[in-house]
Amino acid sequence: MTAHLVTNIGELVTWDADRPILHDAALVVEGGRVAWFGHRTDAPPADSSSDVGGAAVIPGFVDSHSHLVFAGDRSAEFEARMTGEAYAAGGIRTTVAATRAAPDEQLRANVARHLAEMRAQGTTTTEIKSGYGLTVLDEARSLAIAREFTDETTYLGAHVVPEGSDVGAYVDLVTGPMLEKCAPYARWIDVFCEDGAFGQDEARTILTAGIAVGLLPRIHANQLGHGPGVQLAVELGAAAADHCTYLSDTDVEALAGSDTVAGLLPGVEFSTRQPYPDARRLLDAGVTVSLATDCNPGSSYTSSMPFCIAVAVRDMGMSPREALWAATKGGAQSLRRDDVGHLSVGAKADHVVLNAPSFVHLAYRPGVPLVAGIG
Ligand SMILES: [Zn+2]
Repeated sequence: MTAHLVTNIGELVTWDADRPILHDAALVVEGGRVAWFGHRTDAPPADSSSDVGGAAVIPGFVDSHSHLVFAGDRSAEFEARMTGEAYAAGGIRTTVAATRAAPDEQLRANVARHLAEMRAQGTTTTEIKSGYGLTVLDEARSLAIAREFTDETTYLGAHVVPEGSDVGAYVDLVTGPMLEKCAPYARWIDVFCEDGAFGQDEARTILTAGIAVGLLPRIHANQLGHGPGVQLAVELGAAAADHCTYLSDTDVEALAGSDTVAGLLPGVEFSTRQPYPDARRLLDAGVTVSLATDCNPGSSYTSSMPFCIAVAVRDMGMSPREALWAATKGGAQSLRRDDVGHLSVGAKADHVVLNAPSFVHLAYRPGVPLVAGIG
């Protein structure tokens, strides 16, 4: 194995317990893993080296929530929402129809394009959900395509009840034949637990069925109003309760006393003009928080983690450091991964070199492409 030294790092974020952030640092990569990090002048000999000229180096972002398997475009819906015009909302049904009609090759190309966008903005690990097929065939092929790109695939047959279906019959499908065909391609199972989607009992039934065949639970919870999603996530030991926009004190306490990560998705509130989740309240209560894009064509069509960090810092009460942690280590915890989201010795060497002397620039310079390279 050959060792590569990355040196002259102005600011190195590792999230290592003893030295989470170093200055004038260096990093040694061997076999795709971090073999050493420390002060530049203490670096061991290596087979090759690169000098990053005082730039900041951070762990690759871990985007723990995205919906990349889709076809179609909903910019007209967004434009109407932003200009206050009436719009006969096809909403998610528009995307479902376009996705069903798209050939595999088109869906595959869409996933590849969006992942390339994410990578260009520093994301090195991405979770991808199904949920725009809503038939056995279309959910299974969505997941099979997602699995070509990532191991972090999530079965979200329970995204919405498809038009013309009865809720009870659809839950039977999601927990029966659809689950059987989708489980081989999925690591996770998710449900949209919200008024107008799936209620507490239905969500519990769906997640329990997934757990029974070896899938791990995560939940879309408390996005549009108060509800049972967060409590159910904690009850079932879910890795993530994502959205968390409307929380009671009991919800916050339950999250704080659990290892369920609260996933905040600021692109959604930005794109829908809803109030942002209160990250400060969660952090002060001791809740583990992640940041993710929720990249989807309806409510949050951004693939940019730096954008989410900037909004979280500007409008959600997070410090730049807390936001970066949530977008890296927090995302990893949301996916129950300890090999990504940090640069301690032994971690995957996914590291991002910024065109900036400090990670603070991710929020300080919103909208500016700051990723110089990914190693
Ligand atoms: Zn989502």
